[in-house]
Amino acid sequence: MKVLVLAGTAEARELSFALERAGIDLITSLAGATERPAPMAGASRVGGFGGAPGLAEFIKANDVSHLVDATHPFAAQMSRNAHEAAETAQIPLVQLVRPAWPEKPNWHMHDDLAAAASALPTGATVFLSTGRGSLAAFADRDDVTFIARVIDDLPGPFPLPKGRFQIGKPPFSVQEEVATLNDAKIDVLVSRNSGGTGGIEKILAAEHLGLKIFMVKRPSMPQGNRVETVDDALAWLTKT
Ligand code: NAP
Repeated sequence: MKVLVLAGTAEARELSFALERAGIDLITSLAGATERPAPMAGASRVGGFGGAPGLAEFIKANDVSHLVDATHPFAAQMSRNAHEAAETAQIPLVQLVRPAWPEKPNWHMHDDLAAAASALPTGATVFLSTGRGSLAAFADRDDVTFIARVIDDLPGPFPLPKGRFQIGKPPFSVQEEVATLNDAKIDVLVSRNSGGTGGIEKILAAEHLGLKIFMVKRPSMPQGNRVETVDDALAWLTKT
């Protein structure tokens, strides 16, 4: 058995160590989105494959027998590629996806980033924790000030009409998040329903401060084998 883990999440990292402990041969793959990713077990590679055909080629060339899509719940393109490539290469695929946070009545739910962007109130100061790649969706809102938290301090101007980056590497405590939102005089928090334990603190902080919370729903995933925990992914792999 040789497992390719499409990574980029804490769960992928945990799975890599669990596979190593179980003596299973593995390769982990990262998109290369962060400058200093946390270490993982197994052989590693970084960068895109060149779409689903490139991934299918990689699978065949490296004798991969099982594919795990442990990418972020919002990495929809990679999940579609994984689905297609597993079919082409005819190997089993499992999606390891952490559960979404249960919706709360005080959250304003939006189908995607564009819907959240267009619903923002004029004149608001908005905290974006939706990632650097999401900022284009807010580019038309020159009547809103954005504070966009990102992990890496990269060169280049702030890409939105009004606002600034805030550099910060998680985890953050609720107390820290309260201070961040307070200091920046935030009116609205925009978050994606990433789920998991890391990341809920900003939501709790916004609730504590009585701010508006705009929550973006998850994109749809291809149908297929799906588990929610590292243990279940390991169990699925060892019985497949
Ligand atoms: P995406 O839109 O679904 O994928 C864009 C392209 O990036 C893919 O088509 C693929 O390029 C490449 N890619 C993505 N994940 C890869 C992986 N694990 N290994 C090799 N190539 C990969 O993904 P995204 O939203 O930009 O996220 C990029 C990565 O960051 C993902 O691995 C994800 O797990 C991680 N991440 C994303 C978020 C988020 O909010 N979206 C949050 C935390 C971490 P090719 O088509 O050339 O193969």
